[in-house]
Amino acid sequence: MIDDTTHSAELSAELFAGLIAQLDDRTFRADITSREAFAAMQQLIVLRNMLDHYAATLTGEFDRLKMTAPQGRSVRQLLITMGIALAVAGRLVRVGTTTGIDGLRTHTVDGAISLDHADAIVLGLGHIKSRAGEPVTPEQRRDHTRALVSQALSGMSPAEIGKHARQLGNLLADDTGGAPAAEDRSLNSVTLATTSDGRLDVRADLDVSVGEKLCTTIESLSAPTPRPDGSHDPRTVRQRQADALETLLEAAARGLADDTVSTTSRYDVLLTLNAEQPDRSALQHMGPVTDQLATTLTCDAQLTVAILDDEQAPLQLGRRKRLFTNAQRKAFILRDECCVKCGAPASRTQSHHLKHWADGGPTDVDNGCLLCTSCHHDVHDRGWDVVMGFDRHPWLIPPATVDPKRRPQPAYNRRTLHLDDAA
Ligand SMILES: [Zn+2]
Ligand SMILES: [Zn+2]
Repeated sequence: MIDDTTHSAELSAELFAGLIAQLDDRTFRADITSREAFAAMQQLIVLRNMLDHYAATLTGEFDRLKMTAPQGRSVRQLLITMGIALAVAGRLVRVGTTTGIDGLRTHTVDGAISLDHADAIVLGLGHIKSRAGEPVTPEQRRDHTRALVSQALSGMSPAEIGKHARQLGNLLADDTGGAPAAEDRSLNSVTLATTSDGRLDVRADLDVSVGEKLCTTIESLSAPTPRPDGSHDPRTVRQRQADALETLLEAAARGLADDTVSTTSRYDVLLTLNAEQPDRSALQHMGPVTDQLATTLTCDAQLTVAILDDEQAPLQLGRRKRLFTNAQRKAFILRDECCVKCGAPASRTQSHHLKHWADGGPTDVDNGCLLCTSCHHDVHDRGWDVVMGFDRHPWLIPPATVDPKRRPQPAYNRRTLHLDDAA
């Protein structure tokens, strides 16, 4: 409730307007000492925490008054339209609408605990509750609140409070017959976050069952493959695992797409190309990509390409002409058996156009071959070429950095004779 019995003055827009008028357009003294600056900052932090406490309380009022019900919006959406950042709006809603945490309110109202810390405590209590095998008693909840509040008051970060809540949750699960953490699916989460340099940071927290499937699959797809000259796979374990993840996604898209009859599937990656400006290609989720990457991507099957004109209107959507058919892919598997460069199994390969379709390369068997995802990038990005030999088998031409004379090498499944000669 907004009424605060410990203060005589009521909170209102007028009171806040008065505060704003007092603080408006002030500056710190030019000769402020470090001691004064530090003391001012200490008071400001308390003030800020108090204001956040009131903002959370008001958010709770928004919810209680059902202010957003007529528009069918959530309180969080309302806060965002009022100019509050998405993450902060989420915290205000969580802290403001969670009731019955008296042990926390005492410390947010006097500004000792920040909104970020209060949110970590609310999330932590929810986590602990979800781990219990039987309903949490009011005494247990009070104990847990006290434990997390004292963490916040002793200077622990929100992340450390979250970690402590996990420990308390494990203890409670042990005591009440809840699932051990390793087998509790309710804790599972995957976070996908774009980094400042346009990459994707993937974090997963998984129970043993999903974890086992992931480990088994990544392990089976990330075995090192020796290079044509017999030397070791130059990729690090982590690079091989990342390649394996891509292979897994390709295989999943292919498997899921098989069930659909349409020429485009909702599992397809969507790439838009600008007809006038080829350097303005973009992926639906990850944003702009170079011309070079767009070429590699459009070589592969599991992708829908939308070609846009300058007004961003689609000129053509689909993949019928661009892609090899299932029958053509079977012909590749008969002829090449595996990745023509490294010998990775056919199930882990993409179909590469020797002459790219955008350069007028036909989509027929003599213009394609099998390459695994890693070797496919070697061909598009690192100077390897694939050409069709007179024997109607693909041949690889290494870049000058690998072989200064750029001597053609046969496809992997035709290399046995060559290697026996060397022996
Ligand atoms: Zn390969
Ligand atoms: Zn290709």
